Amino acid sequence: MSRFSLKGLSGLAGLALVLALVAVAARALGSGRPEVGLLAPVRAAPAEQLDTVRLAPGQTFGQVLQRASVGWSDQNALLLAFREQANPRRMRDGTLITLRWLRHGDRGLRGVDVSLNPDTTVRLFRDGVDWSSALKNTPVRRDTLFVAGTVRNLLWNAIIEDPDLAGFPASDRALIIHWMDQVFQWQIDFSRQVREGDEYRFVLELEIRPDSTLRSGHLVAAEYVNQGTPYRAVWFDPNGDGSGTFYDEDGKSVRRAFLMKPLEFRRISSGVNPNRLHPVHGYRRPHNGVDYAARTGTPVMATADGAVVYAGWKGEFGNLVEIRHPNGWLTRYGHLNGFGPGIRGGARVRQGQTIGYVGMTGTATGPHLHYEMRRGNGRVLNPLAVRLPPGDPVPARSWGRWVQESRQRLSLLASMPGPPIQVLAEAPDADDPEQGSAQGGD
Ligand SMILES: [Zn+2]
Repeated sequence: MSRFSLKGLSGLAGLALVLALVAVAARALGSGRPEVGLLAPVRAAPAEQLDTVRLAPGQTFGQVLQRASVGWSDQNALLLAFREQANPRRMRDGTLITLRWLRHGDRGLRGVDVSLNPDTTVRLFRDGVDWSSALKNTPVRRDTLFVAGTVRNLLWNAIIEDPDLAGFPASDRALIIHWMDQVFQWQIDFSRQVREGDEYRFVLELEIRPDSTLRSGHLVAAEYVNQGTPYRAVWFDPNGDGSGTFYDEDGKSVRRAFLMKPLEFRRISSGVNPNRLHPVHGYRRPHNGVDYAARTGTPVMATADGAVVYAGWKGEFGNLVEIRHPNGWLTRYGHLNGFGPGIRGGARVRQGQTIGYVGMTGTATGPHLHYEMRRGNGRVLNPLAVRLPPGDPVPARSWGRWVQESRQRLSLLASMPGPPIQVLAEAPDADDPEQGSAQGGD
């Protein structure tokens, strides 16, 4: 390895030069002061300059070093040292590479950190005249978090002020609210249906890394009791490949053919009554839809799979999108600022796809979305009152594992105060008719 170390000498020479200069300066200043007091901090923490680079698609580690003007011999020595820990040809696009330079002297390279993933970093450092490597694993602590509370006015306030979450920054608490919205987006419109006295409980699994503020985690079980009706969601991964989803306590998917609302809860302006923005077709006249106040440019989602039948200007609705869905359903989205990519008559859309952006075109005095749900016969429906059948249940082949895992997760929920939780003993599509009849209906 020593044949790759020529450049290393110049780095050391640079360090030696810095130390010598400091020593000279200390002597010049110091009549009678001990030199060691000035020298020690320099030796302990040489001033470094950090250059952080992300590996571009198709780029190699060697090319990054070359681009940073690392000498040829150092490049080779670094690659050799790196190979002791990982294969430089298997570095993923976007890998974070930090070059640590000495700020003084000849700006010699002092070390290189390569973050293989959020938890693992390869550290390359000068070791005498050679380069050495070490693997640094970030200790990840897993935590289970139990949160329960009662809503006094807004869900947002309840979660932000929940003492169970006191240790988390506001951004993390806002993220938790978003996760709740994602889980219950087919059952509850948190912007319109939340009532005083509603209760929630949820269990979160978190990964906590001490040297970063990043907290990653996911909900494993959640419950929201809306005006006395409990909605529950349990995380389950039927294929064991990470593509899991949420099911209710009976093993039926929480997904429905329609989302309850076409905007993410976190993007809906709270404390604004959009009806006040409607001097022309407010509630005094029959108002055929639901209005959501949100910032101009907020993405609007198709609430269900379907086909666009109209995308263009329509009188007081301004820019309007109309989507036809299976079984004679029709949804309309008005006052849009613009249309989503590819949204035109005949285009097929998927549930959750961006079909436009909130605006105030047509008759509107502030940015908001006008949303309507109709039947093909023209009958207008209240989206909050429509009840739809649940999505696919847990596949029969995974039922045994579901029973085991869901009971464990529901028992975590039930460890907090709240309504009792009963679960089905058998798969909802089990072939045994006697078991089936014992379940009753709803
Ligand atoms: Zn409206």
